[in-house]
Amino acid sequence: MTPKTNKMSTETQKTELIRGGQFLVKETQCEDVFTPENFNEEQKMMKDSVKEFIDREVWPKKAEFEKKNYALTEEVMRKAGELGFLSVAVPEEYEGLGMGFVSTMLVCDYISGATGSLATAFGAHTGIGIMPIVLYGNEEQKKKYIPKLASGEWFGAYCLTEPGAGSDANSGKTKAVLSEDGKYYSISGQKMWISNAGFATIFNVFARIEDDKYITAFILEYDKENPNGISFGEEEKKLGIHSSSTRQVFFNETKVPVENMLSERGNGFKIAMNALNIGRIKLAAACLEAQRRVIDGSVKYANERVQFDTPIAKFGAIKLKLAEMACNAYAGESAVYRASKNIEDRISLRLESGNSQSEAELKGVEEYVIECSLLKVACSEDIQYCSDEGIQIFGGMGFSADAPMESAWRDARIPRIYEGTNEINRMLAVGMLVKKAMKGHVDLLGPATKVANELTGIPSFDKPDYSELFAEEKEILQNLKKIFLMVAGSAVQKFGEKLEEEQQLLLASSDILIEIYMAESSLLRTEKNAKRFGEDTQKEQIAMSKLYLYHAVDKINEKAKEGIISFAQGDEQRMMLMGLKRFTKYQNQPNVVELRNTIAEKLTSENKYTF
Ligand SMILES: Cc1cc2nc3c(=O)[nH]c(=O)nc-3n(C[C@H](O)[C@H](O)[C@H](O)COP(=O)(O)OP(=O)(O)OC[C@H]3O[C@@H](n4cnc5c(N)ncnc54)[C@H](O)[C@@H]3O)c2cc1C
Repeated sequence: MTPKTNKMSTETQKTELIRGGQFLVKETQCEDVFTPENFNEEQKMMKDSVKEFIDREVWPKKAEFEKKNYALTEEVMRKAGELGFLSVAVPEEYEGLGMGFVSTMLVCDYISGATGSLATAFGAHTGIGIMPIVLYGNEEQKKKYIPKLASGEWFGAYCLTEPGAGSDANSGKTKAVLSEDGKYYSISGQKMWISNAGFATIFNVFARIEDDKYITAFILEYDKENPNGISFGEEEKKLGIHSSSTRQVFFNETKVPVENMLSERGNGFKIAMNALNIGRIKLAAACLEAQRRVIDGSVKYANERVQFDTPIAKFGAIKLKLAEMACNAYAGESAVYRASKNIEDRISLRLESGNSQSEAELKGVEEYVIECSLLKVACSEDIQYCSDEGIQIFGGMGFSADAPMESAWRDARIPRIYEGTNEINRMLAVGMLVKKAMKGHVDLLGPATKVANELTGIPSFDKPDYSELFAEEKEILQNLKKIFLMVAGSAVQKFGEKLEEEQQLLLASSDILIEIYMAESSLLRTEKNAKRFGEDTQKEQIAMSKLYLYHAVDKINEKAKEGIISFAQGDEQRMMLMGLKRFTKYQNQPNVVELRNTIAEKLTSENKYTF
């Protein structure tokens, strides 16, 4: 195959590409990050048409989506297929739009904000439904299945989870037995929590052959007229995403032709995990528009609702909420599109060096698994917080199912659980970083040694020059990175390979990583925009970046302290605590109330999230 760059991919940055996880030890210049303000004309058009579609087909029917109307989700999915929205990530040779990674994320972002039901159906179909075949299928499999899945004629589902195999995904008991004539496998077992099960035609099913160490993936076709041993449980009764079909799927000696094995025997776990890597960053994107819509609804309500003869938007208590909600959403957007462009550039680079499209995509995403996991965790927790505050702003009305906040809050709960729980993703991110360091892909040891030396040295008493935008904030960010290196470096030294058993330390370390990545992304976006559009145009964005960093410093202080006092003793503990104090120090504390008021006043005057 001749290498080609992705159609509609955004212009590749000419600078050396940063590796996954390197954000921690390499200073990134603002010019080197991609921000939502960098969307090209085609991307802007795509964004507008997705938004217009959702405003027309989904938002007015939001209440209907709460009535377990699975047929409505299917109908909207079909319409999305007709408009090409299901095929953005599918290469053109399989009748897809073959768009770049950033565009794929953009569609996922804007299609997912109105109801979690559609977000889940879309994510399951375009992510874990289609991508395993796009990435691992052979030519015949791709030709046979992808065009129909891309157009929405067929829908896809992904059957990994079983009653006894959730987070421990490779422990499934579903069996695949080869027939005597060697022509087909007979699959028997029980899968549960399968999204889109009620209307899917194609099921990517993971099963074990004999006593293989790893499971194997198969493509199964479901035909209502000839069920071939496939049957379904009732629709699950769920807290949220009420119109997303979720069922158990039973396989009773279901015959699958041998040619429907995906990739090779025993490769299923790898396929499952790689499909999830892409799914995770997409899920992060899927949590963005939901935040914007909750903020829009909250701002409008706060402007209209009058108590004590005053619109509640004028109260400091409400301003605080609106500002914090926007500050997180802005950081989430900044971080998601920054990482997406890194992935897109890495894919282009691999295509240029002769990788096939699927190899390039797999390796491109794999490079940034750390960021994918961090973003999944951060954005899924931000939408939860955002919708919770949305309810609070609505007061009693927030608790009513007649107002949009109630369903937003319920729908926001699931992203913390699927695509790997947030606990698993937190631990995975730190585990991957340690692995990358061991492989020499990210040099943690050098910088960690430098920090250790700095701790024993005398701190500089020079008066720094903070006159440039974010000069102090950037210095603090560098210090936050030192905190991670100090704590994690010391923990690795102490526990060695046993570190993976110290889950509470891993969770704390991963929270530090999240805060660093999010705060840095917010700051770099604002700095870049201040340089190109003028600082005076970025007043509220500057406030959001400063506010995010202020909270990040506090959270990192808490998490690092937790680690230090739990595993270090005596002089080592004292020295690290002193380091922590030094590295979290502001010379000029930000005026937090003023920052929040600046942000909230912009939101309420524009009556929406405008960033
Ligand atoms: C609405 C919905 C849709 C879904 N869609 C699909 C789908 O389409 N296809 C599919 O295959 N699956 C799907 N799932 C399944 C989902 O991916 C799993 O629920 C998830 O991976 C967690 O597995 P579990 O429910 O078995 O929880 P468990 O693995 O039992 O976890 C329970 C708790 O223990 C924690 N835990 C588990 N292991 C560890 C560990 N080693 N260390 C520390 N803590 C741990 C978890 O973080 C969690 O807090 C869906 C689930 C839901 C609810």
